[in-house]
Amino acid sequence: MTTSVPSHNETPGTHRKGYVYIIGAGPGDPELLTLKGERVLREADVILYDDLVSSELIERFHAQKIYTGKRKDSHHFEQDEINEEIVRHALQGKKVARLKGGDPFVFGRGGEEIEVLRNNGIGYEIIPGITAAHGASAYTEIPLTMRKISSSVAFCTGHPINKIQVPDADTLVYYMVASSVHDVLDAVVNKGWKDDTKVAIVQNATRYNQKIFTGTLGELRTGEKAVYSPALLILGANINQFIGENWYSKKKRVLVVGDNDRMFNRDEYIVVPLPSHRIDVDNLNHEEGDAVDLDFIDEIYFSSPTCVRNFMNCYKIIPERIIVRTANEQTEAEYGSYLIQP
Ligand code: SAH
Repeated sequence: MTTSVPSHNETPGTHRKGYVYIIGAGPGDPELLTLKGERVLREADVILYDDLVSSELIERFHAQKIYTGKRKDSHHFEQDEINEEIVRHALQGKKVARLKGGDPFVFGRGGEEIEVLRNNGIGYEIIPGITAAHGASAYTEIPLTMRKISSSVAFCTGHPINKIQVPDADTLVYYMVASSVHDVLDAVVNKGWKDDTKVAIVQNATRYNQKIFTGTLGELRTGEKAVYSPALLILGANINQFIGENWYSKKKRVLVVGDNDRMFNRDEYIVVPLPSHRIDVDNLNHEEGDAVDLDFIDEIYFSSPTCVRNFMNCYKIIPERIIVRTANEQTEAEYGSYLIQP
């Protein structure tokens, strides 16, 4: 006589629990995602992603995508709700990718998310990401440590402002400073840092619109600078090595409208893709963070007449300093028709 023991999976009314991957997406440049992160994102059933994850990265994957950030025109997710959402999908037996900007364990609340998973008995793994400090350091040529100049580095936060800490380290990197630059600089001065210490503010590190402000502690404390999120503040003597024109800022930035970016050599160009669906008239998607800032663009490449039309509908004018290239005669003619208008 044989008896069959139903496996746990087959017991009526119960589901096999899913599995969650908490993945660091890196600071912006989509190529800074790890190979492991890329594989898991390809295999995932659902991706829950944050504000700091670039659309360019997320668009490459085909899973169900759920935005859990705080963009004005979307539902504002609180951390508790995000936790619930992760658990809910996992309990449906799915492979869940929780994708966060930078590294999940550096000001990323990854610690809280695993606590909830542990409490629910859900299996998980953590895939590290390149944190903003490392991205900013590499893409601005600011070494975080430097022989004989800086032998320690601390990652700190400028938020909340009543809890700003100034640890004893040669290089300080502050996260979350867009609205607290002056509070951080004051805290650092109160701790005895000298007015001539070099400071760099790196906005949108590793992205096409990366912007760097540098100066001394004294200069930046007195000057008014509008700093937009996401931005990091780096302080320390190692910034003396900073080269105003660094390898990343020397590249030309080409906006590729449409789906063809084959002809641009990455040694020379930063390719900013603007896929057709993002400027499709029926699907006008000018969300905050999705619009391309033409101030940072040197060249535009149009891959088809429709791309020209939809782009001009969205953006109206192209600043004169931008070089425009087109894929073929029809596209050139379409673009030409916008030039002759008064
Ligand atoms: N887990 C993330 C940090 C999240 S906290 C990481 O490891 O990078 C959010 C803060 O990260 C922002 O306020 C900003 O200070 C910093 N940040 C993230 N991406 C950035 C970028 N591309 N450029 C500059 N700062 C960035």
